[in-house]
Amino acid sequence: MGEDRRDMRIIIMFGPPGAGKGTQAERLQEEFGFLHVSTGDILREAVERKTPVGLKAKEYMDKGELVPDDVMIPIVRNKLEECKDVPGFLFDGFPRTIAQAEMLDEVLSQTGGSIDRVIYLNTPSDVIVKRLSGRRTCESCGKIYHVVTMRPEIEGRCDECGGNLVQREDDTEKTILNRLQVYEEQTAAILEYFKGKGILLEVDGALPVEESYETIRANVMQEKA
Ligand code: AMP
Repeated sequence: MGEDRRDMRIIIMFGPPGAGKGTQAERLQEEFGFLHVSTGDILREAVERKTPVGLKAKEYMDKGELVPDDVMIPIVRNKLEECKDVPGFLFDGFPRTIAQAEMLDEVLSQTGGSIDRVIYLNTPSDVIVKRLSGRRTCESCGKIYHVVTMRPEIEGRCDECGGNLVQREDDTEKTILNRLQVYEEQTAAILEYFKGKGILLEVDGALPVEESYETIRANVMQEKA
């Protein structure tokens, strides 16, 4: 990654699983053209294709545990190197450990770039459990639905592409509780790391999607800090 990336927007969607990071990132991608990079989606695709990374990642994902940093870091490094023509990146589900956050800072600093915003969707556990246990995802395009709050027009079919709506294997109650615990134990500490840099925007993740999106987009529209 040799070229200058000082003007590139690097936005991190941060928060527990089910906080709405993917939903908000999709909207930002649509409106601003930034590339939505969900490490969970990248891993699920690798699992589907049974690649070596996918086979390794699956054992951790099924239990709701974090895939080791030595698997994750090259994935993100490659993504940054491959995609040079986008105005910005929206990371969703990355970083999840301090080591991942430090690696991202280091790779970006080699080109003069930096993380310019961390959008923290602060969401209580009871809201998360309800959201995730009712979440359905389109197997073809990844669009997210909910059995109560975001139903498709035709039962079981994606409004956008007609794909099948399925429940993610790790969206079962037992795995959700483990994912929340992993978040508290291994991921939440990164907030302090970001707070120290003065780039954190905290948003109430329990609000309806439209409402939190308004706050987020107004913040993103400001110039890069
Ligand atoms: P997500 O779709 O972001 O909820 O991620 C689903 C699963 O993929 C997580 O429960 C982890 O097992 C794995 N995963 C995704 N992103 C990361 C990451 N940055 N570091 C470690 N594991 C990850």
